[in-house]
Amino acid sequence: MKPNANPLPWRLQSAVPGAVWPAIPAPGAATALALLQQMEQSQWHEPQVIETCQLRQMTALFNHAWATVPWYRERWQGLFDAAAPVTRETLERLPLLTRRDLQDGFEALKSTQLPREHGQAQVQRTSGSTGAPVTFLVTGLTTLYWNVFTLRDHLWHRRDLGQKLAVVRHSSKFDRARNWGSATAGLVETGPAIGHSIRTDVDELLTWLDTERPGYFSTHPSILESLARRSIARRVRLEGLLEVRTLAEALGPDLRDLCREAWDVPLTDVYSTTDTGYVALQCPEHTHYHVQAEGLVVEVLDQHGRRCGPGEIGRVVISTLQNYAMPLIRYDIGDYAEVGPPCPCGRGLPVLTRILGRVRNMLVTADGKSYWPAFSMVSIRENMPIRQWQFVLKTPALLEARIVVDTPLSETQEGDLRKRVMSKLPPGLELRITYCEKIERSASGKFEDFYSEVSGAGRSAQGGNSPALV
Ligand SMILES: [Zn+2]
Repeated sequence: MKPNANPLPWRLQSAVPGAVWPAIPAPGAATALALLQQMEQSQWHEPQVIETCQLRQMTALFNHAWATVPWYRERWQGLFDAAAPVTRETLERLPLLTRRDLQDGFEALKSTQLPREHGQAQVQRTSGSTGAPVTFLVTGLTTLYWNVFTLRDHLWHRRDLGQKLAVVRHSSKFDRARNWGSATAGLVETGPAIGHSIRTDVDELLTWLDTERPGYFSTHPSILESLARRSIARRVRLEGLLEVRTLAEALGPDLRDLCREAWDVPLTDVYSTTDTGYVALQCPEHTHYHVQAEGLVVEVLDQHGRRCGPGEIGRVVISTLQNYAMPLIRYDIGDYAEVGPPCPCGRGLPVLTRILGRVRNMLVTADGKSYWPAFSMVSIRENMPIRQWQFVLKTPALLEARIVVDTPLSETQEGDLRKRVMSKLPPGLELRITYCEKIERSASGKFEDFYSEVSGAGRSAQGGNSPALV
């Protein structure tokens, strides 16, 4: 086990007068801290040890699901033996749970007997930005784990919690708070947090950030990109900014470089979903992601349902480990990711190299090959007055480029644009350029620079080996 060379860098709040160091936090915060410290150890375990621990947790959870969740009781008949410990073979034998199952089977997926110690179950909904919304349950226990993974993310990236945190996203309900949020409240005295809506005009957001001078800034990649570009154009440096953190959308290929250029700060990405919680956090030493194996099991499956190896892309199938109110077991969340080799940092947590987004962000050509378009704005927009764009696959053979321009493109510019895009597209695709006034975000505020309107896209996914298209 690698020794923990970095002690906890935070000044903890003590609930006991006079006990300043070592501090004695209030009970809820102390539990979170105790879990975090356990996870400080478990992250260095060998992968086999981590899997053994997960199987012990799965044995407890699956038995609970079998005994108290009607959906699993029915679907697992003949596949599950409550008397035997869960093995990897047991897991791989069980049927996948689809989003459709969750939409249709909410009542049948509820446990009839939630242990009292897990806290109240509460109903939550996903935004349904890139698919139909799903309703699910969370508990006090799942919220506790959410908070602990937030703390781990802060710890991994050595954040100075005394700084101001700025957040721009759809769900921002606050303007200003004294603490960064539920993960740190009662445990560490943080700097203030400020929030703004994702629908705010980009110039207004930039002026707000420039005035507020946060140390950290968290938002969706598409917002960050617009801000970085405006910042460069307006020569706004955002003095005091230490790091940007992104979530909720697939990360484009240029954004890390763009943040360096605009503000000279690193970008840290987070892969989480509303219904499963944190899936993977960016490694402290690399740009790839570590699966949060203490909270969930991630299987990345190819089109035959087999586990992908390093370098292969497949569907992300998740089993949450702590949700006893509504266990999500082998839940096919609709995302695709690329599996990575073990990380040189020494952590035994599994590695995902890239998160590729949803089925609808996958381009499947007429001959059945799959691509993951990741459009580089830099190469296309060079010398062109293009303000915004979006690519939409209308049919397997027709790609529409929707663009918003400051001034109309000349014939030469349009020809140039066509040539640049076409040179990177798979053969056999026709490109149609359409001019728009504005390209709107989805209802949840998410933005997709590519999506497919071809129904059933992804069913013929071939575990692609496809780099960025443009
Ligand atoms: Zn690592």
